[in-house]
Amino acid sequence: MPLTGIYGPDDFANRPQGHVIAPARPGQARTGPPLPMPSLEWTPEVERATAPLYERVKQVIPPIEWPLMAPTIKAINELKQARGAVILAHNYQAPEIFHCVADIGGDSLQLAVEATRVKAGIIVQCGVHFMAETSKLLNPDKTVLIPDTRAGCSLAASITGADVRLLREKFPGVPVVAYVNTSAEVKAEVDICCTSSNAVQVVESLGAPSVIFLPDRYLATYVASKTDVKIIAWKGACEVHERFTGAELRSYREADPSVQIIAHPECPPDVLAEADFTGSTAHMINWVRERRPRRLVMITECSMADNVRAELPDVEMLRPCNICPHMKRITLANILESLLTLRDEVTIDPTLADRARRSVERMINLKN
Ligand code: SF4
Repeated sequence: MPLTGIYGPDDFANRPQGHVIAPARPGQARTGPPLPMPSLEWTPEVERATAPLYERVKQVIPPIEWPLMAPTIKAINELKQARGAVILAHNYQAPEIFHCVADIGGDSLQLAVEATRVKAGIIVQCGVHFMAETSKLLNPDKTVLIPDTRAGCSLAASITGADVRLLREKFPGVPVVAYVNTSAEVKAEVDICCTSSNAVQVVESLGAPSVIFLPDRYLATYVASKTDVKIIAWKGACEVHERFTGAELRSYREADPSVQIIAHPECPPDVLAEADFTGSTAHMINWVRERRPRRLVMITECSMADNVRAELPDVEMLRPCNICPHMKRITLANILESLLTLRDEVTIDPTLADRARRSVERMINLKN
């Protein structure tokens, strides 16, 4: 059914003026002095040591670029061992990060949950700030580092904890579901979190006739189309996915009617209407692994197409390339820096963290 209502900051006259999410605070080195910078020269030894890694990415990284990356990749992998660290990389990270230095790759929730199963005491989060916060929520005793604290997200920045309280005042008794792409401050105010994989299941699990679903208006519209629960939405959007258009997809199909198109539910409805399959990043990857289409258009952040192509070179990717500028703040250079200096550490107020963790764990504990 259509959305029951959609609200944003302008709809609340009593919204606190100038209230914004607190920017990520620069962290500090936890223990000891920084380690010395290792040599970053391209040598025969570096070439030999990194040759198996280049095999993984040779479809998407030209040979001429590899000598510029390989010394840093080798240094990161050695430092990881020395520090007892694990590197988590989101599906939208560049292939040299995702395939060459990450221990665990996946969507934001997969990363945080997997991190609870590793023994490493340090997590380096190659993703945006809310993902590092989620990892910290689920791994409170581990040190979580983010290589660039400016790695934000337009969705997470669209709503604050105060906004959730205003929505609750306007719709008393209506439960609130937050997409994981929100700050810990917002997660602390809601009843339960969801991902794009389980959003419909989470909404229906509440057994309520109406649910406030935030902050992505397009994911809310998609969920509303799949359930009889009335959905009240927030006017947030992902700046990467909202740029795709249905006309763009039609032009791919006109050029090659046999092409397969898969899209992320953060895209506008006219885009999803043109897609052969709609799903989360994890579902999209599984779909490609199972179907192995000859030619594919993947409607999501463009590094994911590179990462899938590196794994499945027989699938030809036509990729409309929308880059997430926040994800791309994470680089090999600042991952190395983060491991050398143990900065920047992600910290969350313990009382707020307890409340936010409950929302995430309630989702994780839902029966499949
Ligand atoms: S791709 Fe969109 S939702 Fe993901 S981090 Fe970037 S802005 Fe946020």
